Amino acid sequence: KRNFAPQFLKMSFLKEIDRRRTFGIISHPDAGKTTLTEKLLLFGGAIQEAGAVKNNKIKKGATSDFMEIERQRGISVATSVLAFIYKDKKINILDTPGHKDFAEDTFRTLTAVDSVIVVIDVAKGVEEQTEKLVEVCRMRNIPMLVFINKLDREGKDAFDLLDEVEQKLGLRVTPMSFPIGMGYDFKGIYNIYEKKLNIFSGDNKQGISAGIEFNDIKNTELDEVVGESAAETLREELELIYEVYPKFNNLEYLEGKLQPVFFGSALNNFGVKELLDAFIEIAPRPQPKRAEERLVDSKEEKLTGFVFKIHANMDPKHRDRLAFIKIVSGTFKRNAPYLHVRNGKKVKFSSPNTFFAEKKEIVDESFPGDIVGLHDTGNFKIGDTLTEGEQLNFKGIPSFSPEHFRYVNNADPMKSKQLFKGLDQLMDEGVAQLFTLGMNGRKIIGTVGALQYEVIQYRLEHEYGAKCSYENINVHKACWVQAEDPKNEEFKEFKRVKQRYLAKDKQGQLVFLADSAFTIQMTQSKYPTVKLHFTSEYE
Ligand code: GDP
Repeated sequence: KRNFAPQFLKMSFLKEIDRRRTFGIISHPDAGKTTLTEKLLLFGGAIQEAGAVKNNKIKKGATSDFMEIERQRGISVATSVLAFIYKDKKINILDTPGHKDFAEDTFRTLTAVDSVIVVIDVAKGVEEQTEKLVEVCRMRNIPMLVFINKLDREGKDAFDLLDEVEQKLGLRVTPMSFPIGMGYDFKGIYNIYEKKLNIFSGDNKQGISAGIEFNDIKNTELDEVVGESAAETLREELELIYEVYPKFNNLEYLEGKLQPVFFGSALNNFGVKELLDAFIEIAPRPQPKRAEERLVDSKEEKLTGFVFKIHANMDPKHRDRLAFIKIVSGTFKRNAPYLHVRNGKKVKFSSPNTFFAEKKEIVDESFPGDIVGLHDTGNFKIGDTLTEGEQLNFKGIPSFSPEHFRYVNNADPMKSKQLFKGLDQLMDEGVAQLFTLGMNGRKIIGTVGALQYEVIQYRLEHEYGAKCSYENINVHKACWVQAEDPKNEEFKEFKRVKQRYLAKDKQGQLVFLADSAFTIQMTQSKYPTVKLHFTSEYE
């Protein structure tokens, strides 16, 4: 007897995977990430007007920093995942904060994307934050697509910019489109990928022209459309491009070996449709993900997923948190029992959230590539894995050495329980890292930015009713310690000599708190079998 039903189910499941594109947009603040996101959502019909996506930037101004962060936290719940449908593709944009004090948030979010779009300001070129983020993507071979923005303004020469992208970001680029003029003289963009010409007109700002087909750039019609000299320049430039840059190759892009570049103006909605159309064609479907135990394929039927972000306590009266899970394989079903691998418990979720544009909705089923938001009362922490029973731990959410370190003291002895609970939960959320000194049990908070100390103090008080104070400590870097042979004399001596500087991180891993780069160097040469690492995960 033949039964077609399961096969049909499987087909539809594969189709769901195939239509998903999950990515992040990275940039230095002000390059145009928010504007581009908004224009993409407009295409998907997910929002009706410009200005609907709130900017989650930290603004310097009248409000004090922690109030600003609270405001930002409120917005970033709404913009954590922006999903929309375009040409039947389900597109999930994961928000990445551009502010450098939140770089770690961004690094963690990058573990949940299948590709990224890098936005660069045509006038400013490659900036610091872009460099750092692209480096992380490069290390992980994440497919990257580059969008050079603000072509309506005077900027750098397009070829110089391509050089800069190659050199500063270490990428190998291939232009997929090319600008005709720039700033005041900006005439339009030639789409190399589709062989189409798009004419820019200042008075038709939001309009999306379909583009004029120009298979043969030698056609004299081009001179009529853009003018003789611009046409001639474009012809020469394209000739150079075909000569100098590698041809686009989808596989190389997917392997992170080649990065296509697009030009446009997000504000004017120019070049955005071309970017999106190419993106849905070439960008990766939900990718396999490595767990400590094995590689998990998105097409596997059983559910697996991991927590990459936790949002907590937006309403201090309800100690509610939203854990963001990236689905790696299988179908996530409402009310189905899943194993929370770290604590070994089966859990069910009666109201898992999905994200659509800026709205959260309860969802019955989600597929690989999707993000679901699970309500949590404090059980999850970043990096946790959910399965249908398999013992599986997804890799790749390491802690990096913080930049700032301070002792944290309890400022209200009656509230020490609240303080520890608060610290514990804030650390699980990934706000900062906690180290406990082996010698005397004193606690040290390490953060990426100085702002976080204010946030922690404020949140401890408002959400947990606890008070803390800080005390300076001279630490340059936290180094995770790996002993080649934990039993050898060298390691024993290291531990004895460095006793005052040794601490445990929250996972119980041994950490050496070095006071200077020189100390690290000296320690490393004195104890060569004791390896010091700047991240908690190492080979
Ligand atoms: P983000 O910090 O990367 O999210 O940048 P925003 O999207 O907030 O943009 C920063 C500023 O640049 C805003 O004032 C935008 O209006 C402006 N902007 C964005 N795209 C363009 C563009 O294509 N042309 C021009 N002239 N300005 C732009």
